[in-house]
Amino acid sequence: MPQNEPIMKLCLRTFGCQMNKRDSEIILSMLADDGYVRVDREDDADVILFNTCCVRAHAEQRVYSRMQQLAKLKGRRPELILGIGGCMAQKEGHRIVERLPHVDLVFGTGVLYELPELLRRAIADGGPVIAVDERTRPMRSQAEFGLRERGVRAWISIGEGCDNRCAYCVVPMVRGPERSKPPELILDEVRCAIERGYTEIFLLGQNVNSYGHDLVSAPDFAGLLELVNEVPGVRRIRFTTSHPKDMSPRLVEVIRDLPRVCEHLHLPVQSGSSRILALMNRGYARGDYLDKIELVRSAVPDIGLTTDVIVGFPGETEDDFDETRSLLEQVRFDTAYIFKFSPRDGTSGEALPNSVPQHIIVHRHRMLLEIEKEISRVRMGELVGTKQEVLVEELCKQEPEYIVGRTRSYRVVRVRSDGAQVGDEVEVDVTGVRGWTLYGTRVKDTPRGVSARTCARVIIDS
Ligand code: SAH
Ligand code: SF4
Repeated sequence: MPQNEPIMKLCLRTFGCQMNKRDSEIILSMLADDGYVRVDREDDADVILFNTCCVRAHAEQRVYSRMQQLAKLKGRRPELILGIGGCMAQKEGHRIVERLPHVDLVFGTGVLYELPELLRRAIADGGPVIAVDERTRPMRSQAEFGLRERGVRAWISIGEGCDNRCAYCVVPMVRGPERSKPPELILDEVRCAIERGYTEIFLLGQNVNSYGHDLVSAPDFAGLLELVNEVPGVRRIRFTTSHPKDMSPRLVEVIRDLPRVCEHLHLPVQSGSSRILALMNRGYARGDYLDKIELVRSAVPDIGLTTDVIVGFPGETEDDFDETRSLLEQVRFDTAYIFKFSPRDGTSGEALPNSVPQHIIVHRHRMLLEIEKEISRVRMGELVGTKQEVLVEELCKQEPEYIVGRTRSYRVVRVRSDGAQVGDEVEVDVTGVRGWTLYGTRVKDTPRGVSARTCARVIIDS
């Protein structure tokens, strides 16, 4: 920062998925280099930025109404800069300033790295700067963007965009075609995260299972996991999102065999009806999905399985819905995220006939939530009495004598700290459940840097 420049205060709000969380870390990092400090309260800020999502209409409406509420603040302090970036900015473009004339900056997904310059222009010109075009973000290492969420987990994007055309989904339109990040850049980012003290690597992509198909002589996703598993200092590896049609048997072997890859898989099913899956253009049928689940569970019986489901896709009959319900009951996911279908401009699903009336969508949504809540509760109960390896993520705010961590299968656990620090790996006897949290007691210290799974293997091998 140039000497004697006033310190600027930035309030950043993030909506949406983990990819957006990582983009927000990059925004904070770039703007910290430009002399900004982060503040939590909008009232204290010189610049307020929203990093947005547009997957469902509700996410967009929330941003419109939150930004509308800031018009009063801008009226009182005209020098305040308001900006909207990310997926919704990319999709809505000029429409944002037509609806919200007090917004100074709209920046799309392709211009993320230009944000500091765009912000300088918005401050200097005082008028709206709109930077949304067809460009896609250049593929580069993000290792230099060191500012991350506090804790143990480093989100690392392994690519951008998506080549699938799920009929309901707007993501390919706002994030562009799939571009895999070369493995050497990913490994560079992993090493940087480890040097900065992070030990859990969470790999991100819209469809991680098709990683590498657009690169010459790159590993596939299973091969990439093997490379990350070898980086010294990595204790845990997770990834999302997996597309069922591209999930290879080799990936299942890698989850089973590599000590640092956690037993945790998010595998969105979207519907239990083959007819609806075909209309959604998902590229698999109910039976294919169930076969994959069986393959995973037979190889890794204690795996934590989660999914996404959409109810009320156009044409969904009572029979189709029953198939989704029965699939949830059959698979018994640890968690299922249930969404009401939201028609999105420009997607093929928007134009499909036989839309399901809203009151039926609401009813089906409620039913699945109830069913899933019960399954999830029972699944959690099944962990009582087991031993789990827990990586400590933070000190508990509500109960200061406890630490909070996650099992390898991604369940949240609270344990009496007894001296354990953030970043320690502790072995825990799970003793009970309260709400969505497991409670447990520590068994013994696990040597730093060596997972319980690795210990078990050493003992068996020797
Ligand atoms: N690339 C990821 C994430 C896509 S968006 C994937 O393939 O899973 C995350 C979830 O939002 C999707 O899995 C889907 O369940 C839901 N979703 C996407 N578009 C939607 C829409 N138009 N209406 C309702 N839910 C939607
Ligand atoms: Fe959207 Fe389908 Fe691509 Fe996921 S795989 S981002 S749901 S188009």
